Amino acid sequence: MKIFRTTSELIKWRKEGVLGLLGFVPTMGALHEGHASLLRSARKESDVVVLSILVNPTQFGDVSDLENYPKTLEKDLKIAEKEGVDAVFAPTPEDLYGGIPSADNVDWGAITSDFEAEFRPGHFNGVVAVVDKLFTTINSDKAFFGEKDLQQVAVIRRLALLHHNEVEIVSCDLIRDSDELALSSRNIRLSREGRTIALELSKSLKAIFNSSNKVGQIRLETSRIDAIEGLDLDYLAGVNEVTYSKNDDPQSWTHAIIAAEVDGVRLIDNIRL
Ligand code: AMP
Repeated sequence: MKIFRTTSELIKWRKEGVLGLLGFVPTMGALHEGHASLLRSARKESDVVVLSILVNPTQFGDVSDLENYPKTLEKDLKIAEKEGVDAVFAPTPEDLYGGIPSADNVDWGAITSDFEAEFRPGHFNGVVAVVDKLFTTINSDKAFFGEKDLQQVAVIRRLALLHHNEVEIVSCDLIRDSDELALSSRNIRLSREGRTIALELSKSLKAIFNSSNKVGQIRLETSRIDAIEGLDLDYLAGVNEVTYSKNDDPQSWTHAIIAAEVDGVRLIDNIRL
């Protein structure tokens, strides 16, 4: 497995010629089973698999979230090796951005202004900036993203449509822990009590999934969740995975989505309806 720490090394390797279809999995590291499932899909669907690991500063609004983001490179490399990754690209932000990292404003309507965008201003500007640079550098045939970050998938599909027609976006299933908590690198920052409270997110999504009255059940679950001590709800809603608007008609909903803070850790989750 090759490990490239700079953009120029990666570009040199690409220029030497990669044989076959290239699959790319971008991550911020602290890899878990959710990331591993993306790597497995990439391995299955491509000849050469590239994994990137970079904690991208421009997508963090909260400085302490960025500072506390887990970094486990040695362990990540072992997982990458086990999943048959051919090359790991792990540059510094300054190297990838070619200077001080910054992000332009992106306005693609509801997908970049509703839900996550509303609660994390500037987040998608940073996501688009880094993925745009990664796509340009790696120039893969396919790129794999998890439906755990469902709004991100909508934003990346738009990015590819507008600026990177060369890359096919493949979305992969959300992976849960055995207790149904959606896997996330941030989960290790949850206390034992926090983790128990966090399970309420997937519980409410399940209740909505099982209800024949989605609108009514979302209302019920919102009141229930709002009353839970230690859980700070940002949103619980129905949405269409393509338009991703607060005004999506319930008839067009494909998913129920939720975001909340527990122990100062921001959690997101969703379920296909
Ligand atoms: P991150 O390292 O959090 O930026 O995530 C890198 C990629 O892994 C993104 O495409 C995420 O959507 C995906 N991912 C993270 N957690 C999960 C999960 N629990 N299930 C599926 N994909 C995930």
